[in-house]
Amino acid sequence: MAGTDGDHSDTIDRLLVTRRDMTEGKKMKSTDECTKYIGEPATVLSSERAVVIEWPRSLTHRHTYGKLTPFFKALTEGRLLATRCVNPECEEKRLWLPPRADCPDCNQPMAWQEILQPVIGTVHTYARVEYAGTAIEPTTPYYQVDVELPGVCTIFKGCLEHGTPTIGMQVEARFRTENPTNTILDISWVPHAG
Ligand SMILES: [Zn+2]
Repeated sequence: MAGTDGDHSDTIDRLLVTRRDMTEGKKMKSTDECTKYIGEPATVLSSERAVVIEWPRSLTHRHTYGKLTPFFKALTEGRLLATRCVNPECEEKRLWLPPRADCPDCNQPMAWQEILQPVIGTVHTYARVEYAGTAIEPTTPYYQVDVELPGVCTIFKGCLEHGTPTIGMQVEARFRTENPTNTILDISWVPHAG
């Protein structure tokens, strides 16, 4: 109806005037105070019926190695550091790897100890990784090996660089000292010729 349309137009006009007044009335002190779009426009993959966009998301994760910093620094230098409990009353005297800052058994601070080179261990078990999880950076498929090391009470996980693992097979540690990743990927394993 005509009357209704007229009312509707008036309402829109009032809204437009109000919006214009607000915009003109607000003085910006500097362009720094403007909120700006700094993203990349999303790619429209399909506009049939529903619009589908490709909108890549990313994030930067800041992570501290904290008291385990010596372990990660040592990897970049080609050395493997474990921890041992030095509390005389603690029953667990073997090494822990990955290291723990505090003893899981008695909760007392642990001491660092370097594993002698060459670092040779035994495959406890293994898995062939076909589909890696988010942020897993080796190419797939690869073998993840769980390695037993002499004097170590834990099983140390890592990637086998090449070859096919078997349970009981001997493997030797390799360190990424050139262009290190500064992550656990700075140590990996290769079959040990024996
Ligand atoms: Zn302890």
